Amino acid sequence: MSGLTVCFWGTRGSIPTPGRHTEKFGGNTTCVELRHGETVVVLDAGSGIRQLGAAWTKESDGRPLRAHLLFTHLHWDHIQGFPFFAPAYCKGNVFTIHGEARPDGGIRELLGGQMRGSYFPVPLAAMQAELTFLDTASAFAVDDLVVRTVHLPHPGGCLGYRVEAGGSVFVFATDSELDQVALNRNEVQADHTAPRRYDPALLAFFRGAHMLVIDCQYTDDEYPSKRGWGHNSVATVVDLCLQARPDVMVLCHHDPERHDEGVAALADDAGARLERTGVTETLVLPARERLEMKVCKPLRPLALSY
Ligand SMILES: [Zn+2]
Ligand SMILES: [Zn+2]
Repeated sequence: MSGLTVCFWGTRGSIPTPGRHTEKFGGNTTCVELRHGETVVVLDAGSGIRQLGAAWTKESDGRPLRAHLLFTHLHWDHIQGFPFFAPAYCKGNVFTIHGEARPDGGIRELLGGQMRGSYFPVPLAAMQAELTFLDTASAFAVDDLVVRTVHLPHPGGCLGYRVEAGGSVFVFATDSELDQVALNRNEVQADHTAPRRYDPALLAFFRGAHMLVIDCQYTDDEYPSKRGWGHNSVATVVDLCLQARPDVMVLCHHDPERHDEGVAALADDAGARLERTGVTETLVLPARERLEMKVCKPLRPLALSY
């Protein structure tokens, strides 16, 4: 069987940003779909999952839907689309929901919390699909997919997911501020361009990916005033790319203040910096809503597509 395919349904960080200035790369918050044959996995349920649900309903033509939803963490921009995920209200559909338990509850309680009466008119119990809630393990299988997780530095915590199937390796590391766990953190704080040193186990998680999707919310100029907010800047992801060498690096969690030209410029900057270091084999792209790609080593002309 051939490898994974990915489709981006939500690329924005923090809050949805509709409007003409964001229509190219998208204004919906995080939601990413992975497919491998009949197996379907969704990473996070930001506002993008509403349109994903609508597309699935149309595509299924009445046949039952089955998928796994993997949550990185429960910040609102990663769960706010869940109450609007229409297939969850339909009897016969089957969804397995993976998320990390927190001190204030498990994934079922926390997802359902945003559907309590003061926040939303329809309770979780109104969802008629078969819903199974699981605490995310450090390694597990979804059909033929092998999934591993890692804890990423982010306020309240965030899981990174590494998914392997059919020869494809996909790594998803949204909300993360990797400078916080650099072994030479003080040096990096003094000189933002200094090469980071990381725990080998963390680097191993990133290495060998055909596609690495990584939070790059800030420019280097913006980062000093946002330190500790839980997101990467360009220098950090360029440095990670130098060490992890993915075939494709997709920059995600676009800042809500960043218009389309700024998103493109930020990705161009990252790509140019990599090329200046002699790394020409990694393709750098900004995540774009409805961008659909095979998770494999790409042909270079794909760079023209954004
Ligand atoms: Zn976020
Ligand atoms: Zn977050």
